[in-house]
Amino acid sequence: MKYDYLIVGAGLFGATFAYEMNKRGKKCLVIDKRKHAGGNIYCEQLNGINVHKYGAHIFHTDDKGIWDYVNQFAEFNRYTHSPIANYKGEIYNLPFNMNTFNKLWGVEKPEEARKIIERQRREAGIDNPGNLEEQAISLVGTDIYNKLIKGYTEKQWGRKAVELPAFIIKRLPVRFTYDNNYFNDRYQGIPVGGYNAIIEKMLEGVDTRLGANYFDHKDELDDMAVRILYTGMIDEFYEYRYGPLEYRSLRFETEVLEIDNYQGNSVVNYTDTDTPYTRIIEHKHFEFGTQSTTVITKEYPIEWKRGYEPYYPVNDDNNNELFSRYRRLADKEKNVLFGGRLADYKYYDMHHVIKKALQAVEKECCRY
Ligand code: FAD
Ligand code: UDP
Repeated sequence: MKYDYLIVGAGLFGATFAYEMNKRGKKCLVIDKRKHAGGNIYCEQLNGINVHKYGAHIFHTDDKGIWDYVNQFAEFNRYTHSPIANYKGEIYNLPFNMNTFNKLWGVEKPEEARKIIERQRREAGIDNPGNLEEQAISLVGTDIYNKLIKGYTEKQWGRKAVELPAFIIKRLPVRFTYDNNYFNDRYQGIPVGGYNAIIEKMLEGVDTRLGANYFDHKDELDDMAVRILYTGMIDEFYEYRYGPLEYRSLRFETEVLEIDNYQGNSVVNYTDTDTPYTRIIEHKHFEFGTQSTTVITKEYPIEWKRGYEPYYPVNDDNNNELFSRYRRLADKEKNVLFGGRLADYKYYDMHHVIKKALQAVEKECCRY
């Protein structure tokens, strides 16, 4: 008997899709090339601390439906993300807000900050921002751009800020209040017990094979199911026939320290050019940990090469154009669906991924 679905990738997209289809009586086989499920939200326990193995993950959404949905799998704590920026030893609050402006310019009132930003924008001569640098200067002025954005961005993306799309910087709020909350969304938090608990619940009762690369057994696996959901890299699926899409990868350097508190915050961004990493994560602070030791991770951005993890799509015009060509091939597939951050080549957050997976389920269900 065939499976109804072969699901390639046990990340959040694959797991959400599997949970919903299993609930509807469809038989699913989930495979992942990694030795664990969860994709990039997977956590590893070290000294009783949930270590975000593939980078800091904070769940946030403005969509009550998605918040209620994810809360059926876990309770969320009251964590509010407020990263700190360290520029050559000077400490600033993020996102850019009155605390940042006060530390930088000594201003106390929103109107004073607005005037400075407006003046700097005018001096830079930017009316219609066309790239990340122009967008950033137009939002927060040149001082903030030079100290808190340029170095971080160019390290993160390995490209000049003028070559990057403006939308990347629009992810960050700019506020004229003394509010250090990194997100504007109504709901946020970290799942109590970590993200693995969510994935485990989603995959309960679903056949799962870990350490299995789809491309190593493609013909055999394809024969095992009526339909396939593929959540890996779309260009790899088509054997890079139009050439590879560009991604950014990361190298994580994790250390256990015999002290209880290293940096006093979950995330500190290093925004200068000389420090080779972009941020240091101190994992216990996501869960208000009181352990006697601590675990920190330095995050080093690197260029993606085959065999490396493709953490970020580089959504500039060239790559988006190349992606559209792959997407046109995908549209012609009769029995293969594509979804998630890698197959859609989009800078999705977790709440986007859940929403997209639920939409894919609805669309599939119209077939029956
Ligand atoms: P993935 O998690 O990438 O899962 C895809 C899975 O497919 C992987 O497990 C992979 O091993 C598997 N796979 C690929 N190819 C094959 C193959 N050939 N055979 C078998 N298996 C295969 N989102 C937030 O909401 N908040 C945050 O704070 C946040 N922080 C982030 C920080 C970093 C550093 C990164 C990289 C992402 C962050 N995100 C955050 C985004 C979040 O990780 C993603 O939205 C989400 O995890 C994507 O889920 P996915 O299932 O689409 O992809
Ligand atoms: N960014 C920055 N300085 C910071 C933090 C972020 O310039 O201290 C910019 C940078 O270009 C980054 C983008 O804002 O790529 C989005 O940041 P976010 O924290 O949303 O990125 P992610 O968590 O996805 O890596």
